[in-house]
Amino acid sequence: MNADQLLARNLLSALASGGIEPYFQPIVSLDDGRILGFEVLARWNDPAQGSIAPDRFIPVADRFGLLDRLLDQLMRTSFKAAADWPHHLFLGFNVSPTQLRNSELATRIARAAVDSSFPLSRVHIEVTESGFIEDLNQPRRTLDRLINLGCMIAMDDFGTGYSSLTWLSSMPFSKLKIDASFVMAMHEHRQSRKIVAAVVGLGHSLGLAVVAEGVETTQQADLLRGMGCKLAQGYLFGRPTPASNVPRILSARVVSDCNSESAVPVSLELRAHQCSETCESDAAIAFMDPAGTVVASSTAFDRTMDVNRGEAAGRHIWDLIGVTPETFAELRATDLLNEQFPPIEETTAGGSLARIMIRPVKDESSELLGYSVEFAQPTSPKAS
Ligand code: C2E
Ligand code: CA
Ligand code: CA
Repeated sequence: MNADQLLARNLLSALASGGIEPYFQPIVSLDDGRILGFEVLARWNDPAQGSIAPDRFIPVADRFGLLDRLLDQLMRTSFKAAADWPHHLFLGFNVSPTQLRNSELATRIARAAVDSSFPLSRVHIEVTESGFIEDLNQPRRTLDRLINLGCMIAMDDFGTGYSSLTWLSSMPFSKLKIDASFVMAMHEHRQSRKIVAAVVGLGHSLGLAVVAEGVETTQQADLLRGMGCKLAQGYLFGRPTPASNVPRILSARVVSDCNSESAVPVSLELRAHQCSETCESDAAIAFMDPAGTVVASSTAFDRTMDVNRGEAAGRHIWDLIGVTPETFAELRATDLLNEQFPPIEETTAGGSLARIMIRPVKDESSELLGYSVEFAQPTSPKAS
């Protein structure tokens, strides 16, 4: 048995005995230091060998097909630990490109979240690209399914892969994480500074949220802020830490408006009802869940969509208006940055041009319930 085989065997028993623990590293807003979520990182403390680094055991786990099991266990433990944390916080999990080839991955993730009553809209999936995957169709299908379930997809370690731009343009990402090596070299190398600035610009022009990784100093944070980068992760803001430490970190950092204790839980249906009560009766408005299924719509909305009253509900929004899973990916990114999604122009069934506003609908603890879709203006005749 060689060293990797031995490691894989030990990992298997560590997985069986709960020897792998999730650690949580904050991802913060550079503007005000607010914690927006955590990346979940695997930690293995072997009783005999001590701590074994992820860089050592993750590639072996990947080769021996153990990553699905690892992910499942990390997710279930993390969802349980995070049950009492403020509901606006996301959890980011690492998924390898080989895992995306498995058509069951999305189902497994959904099952882990549903079993723990953890909303999939708070699950972010970080994927690194791989030069070894030729067929992008199955990974793309897996990611589309995850988006349809409400997850957000991040491209990890941007800048280190083989053909980052191909991967970036082929997959439905809404977040881009700039690899720590560029961030760490910013001070010494003008080149790295230029690369980081260009990547921040590239990400924003594609409608992506951009996270700088490996931020260790206030100088790096200042430089990034100056470049317009909004999100960061690194030792400056917090090292990966066990779940038991997270409440203490949160109470020290999270601003008061995220206090979930005092929040009254509301459902999307209730929100939709409240909104329709206050809306003008002829407002063309609908509400959809985070996965894009319409749950309620006004009479005017159904009329504008040219469907019978009540028939928009239950349908996917992309069967009604010209949005795609990419649009959802962008929506999630703009929401993460606290920005507004630009209006969508659409030709209605009646042939006139309309502006559609899509906005997130949240409960009192800032948890995403879904989206409202509203025709922003009365329809006007289409210019020919
Ligand atoms: P990653 O996804 O790029 O995760 C970030 C790594 O950078 C983590 O290393 C983290 O501890 C480290 N880091 C964060 N901030 C700083 C900083 O300011 N300075 C420095 N020097 N390092 C920082 P870690 O936990 O050792 O993980 C290494 C890699 O192993 C991860 O890189 C990820 O690719 C992989 N990994 C970790 N956990 C998992 C997992 O559960 N599943 C999979 N598939 N991969 C994992
Ligand atoms: Ca990562
Ligand atoms: Ca990374």
